[in-house]
Amino acid sequence: MNRPNRPVFLYWMRRDLRTDDNRALFEAWSAASRAGADLLAVFCFDPHILEPLPRSDRRVGFIVDALRNVADTGLPLISFYGPPVEIFEGLSQHLSVAGVYANEDYEPYARARDAQVRTGLDRRGIPFHLFTDHVIFHPEQILKNDGLPYHVFTPYSRRWKDRFFQSVIRPLDAPDFAQMPSAELNDRAGDPWQDLFEMRRRIADRAGRSITTSNNESAQTTSEERLLTAAQIGFQPEPHGLALKTPASKTPASRIPGRIIERYAESRDLPALADGTTRLGPHLRFGTVSIRRLANAARHHPVFLNELIWREFFQMILYYYQGIDQEFRPEFRILRKFWRDPARSADARRDFEAWKGGRTGYPLVDAGMRELAVTGFMHNRVRMVVASFLCKHLLIDWRIGERYFAEQLLDFELASNNGNWQWAAGTGCDAAPYFRIFNPELQQRRFDPQMQYVRRWLPEFGTDRYPPPIVNHKAARARALAFYERVRTQN
Ligand code: FAD
Repeated sequence: MNRPNRPVFLYWMRRDLRTDDNRALFEAWSAASRAGADLLAVFCFDPHILEPLPRSDRRVGFIVDALRNVADTGLPLISFYGPPVEIFEGLSQHLSVAGVYANEDYEPYARARDAQVRTGLDRRGIPFHLFTDHVIFHPEQILKNDGLPYHVFTPYSRRWKDRFFQSVIRPLDAPDFAQMPSAELNDRAGDPWQDLFEMRRRIADRAGRSITTSNNESAQTTSEERLLTAAQIGFQPEPHGLALKTPASKTPASRIPGRIIERYAESRDLPALADGTTRLGPHLRFGTVSIRRLANAARHHPVFLNELIWREFFQMILYYYQGIDQEFRPEFRILRKFWRDPARSADARRDFEAWKGGRTGYPLVDAGMRELAVTGFMHNRVRMVVASFLCKHLLIDWRIGERYFAEQLLDFELASNNGNWQWAAGTGCDAAPYFRIFNPELQQRRFDPQMQYVRRWLPEFGTDRYPPPIVNHKAARARALAFYERVRTQN
C-alpha cells in the first residue's frame, strides 16, 4: 500500500448496527482520537451465515439499509464478502492496524469465529478488544451465590433487577466523526480505498462471489462504493417494512416507542393491535436500538422490563450451554427417537405443511403462520400457541419448528428462538411443564375475542374454503400426554 504507516483502529461491526451508545465503536474512536490515528469501520458478509439462506431473505435488506444509515453519520465504513478471518488477515496486510474493536456475540459460531480471528491478530501482535454491548449485564455478572449460572428465570430476574436498580446505566453519545483525522483514509493521494476494493474483490472471488467496484479514476471514492448492495452479495433486495431512515446518531431515543411501553401491560397480549407491542425485535437483534437506552426507558414499567430480562436470560443460557441442538433438560433427550418425522412419514409431512401454510383448521394457529409468512413477524402470544401446537398437537420435533422460525423471522435471535421453542416443548430450562397444553380455541377466544386478528390473516375464515381441524384437540391432548409419559417411564 503506497501510504505512510499511519495507524488505523478498526471497529468490526456485527450485531450493533448503530453509532449511538455503541461500546466498541466508542472505544475505537476514543483510542484513534487519542493517537491521532484513523478509524475504519468494517462489516463482513459472512458466507457461512449467508449461503444457507433463501436469496430473498428480508434480513439482508435490513442489514444493507442499516449499514447505509451508519455510513450517513460520517463514520468511514466498508463492507466485505468473505470469511472474517481472511478479511482481517487482508486488512492487517494492507493497513497498519493498531487494534480491532468489537462487541461480544455469544452464539457458538460467533465465539469460534472470534477465537480464530483473535489467533490471526495475535500472530501479528494486534490487540483484539471485545465489549459487552448486546445485553445490559454480561452473563457472568448475574450468577447464583455459589457462582453458578441460574436455570430458573424468577431468581435470575430478581438478581438482575437488584443490580439494575442499583446501577446508573449511562448510554454513550455517538462520536463526532467530523473531529477525526479519519477523513485521511479518504483524502490522501494514492487512494487506499482502491487497495481495499482490490482486496475485497480477491477475497470474495475466493469465496465464490464475483464483486466488481467501478474503478474510480479520482482519488475520492464514495461511501456507495464502500458498501456492498444486496445484489452484489447475491440477494434480492427484499423490502423488510421497517423504518430505518433516521440517522441513529441524531435521534438516539426516537426509535423507543414510549407510549407503547406505558400501555404494554394492558395491550401486549392482544395480537390484533398493531401497536400492542414495540416491534423492536429486529432492532434489538441487529443493534439498531441500544438496549441500555431501552432498559432505561423501561425502568418504571416492570411488565415490559421483564421481557427484556427474558431476552438476557436466554442470552445467558446460550453463553453457558452452547449445545443448543439438544434438549436443555437431559431427561427429555429420549424424545428425540419418538417425534413424528416429516422427512419419513407422509402423515407427519402433511401435518407439518398444513402448519407452515396456515391450514390446520385452528384459526389462531393459521392466522399466526400466515402473518409470519407474509411479514416476517408473529405476535408473541400467537408464537406460543403455534409452537405448542406443533410440538404437542402434532408431535413434531421442536427443532423443526425452530428451524422454520429461524428462516422466517426478521427478529430471529438464536438464543431467544431456541429458548422459547424449548419452553413451548417443555424441554428447556424453566419451561412450561409438558402437561400444559394450550387449547388453541380457548386462546383465540381469550386474546382475539372479536376475531379481528384471525379475519385479517384468514380472509377465507367462515367460508367453505377454510379447512376443518386436522386434529381433534381432546384426542391430540391425550396423545401428547401419553407421548411425554415416555420421559417418566423410559429414562
Ligand atoms: P415486545 O413485546 O415489544 O418486547 C420487547 C423485546 O423484548 C422484544 O423485541 C424482545 O427482544 C424481548 N422479548 C420479548 N419477549 C421475549 C421472550 N419471550 N423471549 C426473549 N425475548 C423477548 N424473540 C426474538 O427476539 N427472536 C426470536 O427468534 C424469537 N423466537 C421466538 C419463538 C417462539 C416459539 C416464541 C414463543 C417466542 C419467540 N421470541 C423471539 C420472543 C417474542 O415472541 C418476541 O421477542 C416478540 O414477539 C417480538 O415482538 P416485539 O419486538 O413487539 O416484542
